[in-house]
Amino acid sequence: MSAAPDHIAEAPAVDGVPLVEVEGLGRVFDLSKRWLNRLLDGSGKVTLTAVDGVDIAINRGETYALVGESGSGKSTIARMVVGLLPPTSGSVHIGGADIWAESGGPRQRQIRRRIQMIFQDPFASLNPRWRVGSIVAEPIKAFGLIADARDREARVGELLALVGLDPRDAGKFPHEFSGGQRQRIAIARALASEPEFIVCDEPTSALDVSVQAQVLNLLRELQERLGLTYLFISHNLAVVRHMATRVGVLYLGRLVEEAPARELFAAPKQPYTRMLLDAVPDIGMEGVERQSIAGEIPNPINPPAGCHFNPRCPYVMPHCKTIVPPLYQVGNAKVLCHLYADGVDAALPPPAR
Ligand code: SF4
Repeated sequence: MSAAPDHIAEAPAVDGVPLVEVEGLGRVFDLSKRWLNRLLDGSGKVTLTAVDGVDIAINRGETYALVGESGSGKSTIARMVVGLLPPTSGSVHIGGADIWAESGGPRQRQIRRRIQMIFQDPFASLNPRWRVGSIVAEPIKAFGLIADARDREARVGELLALVGLDPRDAGKFPHEFSGGQRQRIAIARALASEPEFIVCDEPTSALDVSVQAQVLNLLRELQERLGLTYLFISHNLAVVRHMATRVGVLYLGRLVEEAPARELFAAPKQPYTRMLLDAVPDIGMEGVERQSIAGEIPNPINPPAGCHFNPRCPYVMPHCKTIVPPLYQVGNAKVLCHLYADGVDAALPPPAR
């Protein structure tokens, strides 16, 4: 097998046992008007299925990226996986423990300590009235990890050094730092609870292009050093290509393709994945005939029946409009598409229109 190009992440050594197991995860939002208003204007209930039966297993030491357009359900999944939003259906297990079980109990706190999140906007995610030392020390106190104040201060200094800041920065306020430095503070805070699993929700999209690579490289260095496992949420496919070992593609709340990153970028299978990759001019797809697919994402409140992608798909067949395809195993990939019903990884036929 030939070596991967520099810009594609090599899969780190993993033990093959999933650290994170997401099964049948679903989230429905009720967008209905109040009961009395509905009664008066005769309108019915309105619901939005943001996430629809998603299964994901993430191995220890892996970077699993979720991609998809706005409204695909990426951030809703991230919030459910990290424990910020309860699912409507399905489960999330970390190291075999259900993060939504034993709500509020000590065991749940112990599970939650193992999961942290890095948010998109380092300007909004740090309390502007707290000094950096207090911000980074907060999870250490909250989870009762270090009782002695001096030891805690020393640990904060270690964490700041780990993310490339000066331990003396603990005495400053967030506004005294640049965007990239603030994201480093947010990373130090995330590491303070000694997590195994970190959800990175668009961690560099609010940063200048010049500092994005520095923060991404820091995340990779920390992963190698600390054995971290990442769920990486991004709409930026160039960033995903740089970071991910495996990629899941979402469309209107469903996982439509999952594959090792290298394979997905070299030969995307699902028609929507092809469209997504085609939309980015600097993503090379060697050996893949390019096509452009027109159309807008349908209204998620009333998505198309069958395969949600059918109104935009150039390969649409009559049964695509009525039957939801299962997730077919095709080589190392999983593909939600009737074209792969026989499981054979054949080149897609010419578009029907
Ligand atoms: Fe296109 Fe049908 Fe496949 Fe959906 S199931 S992506 S409509 S071919």
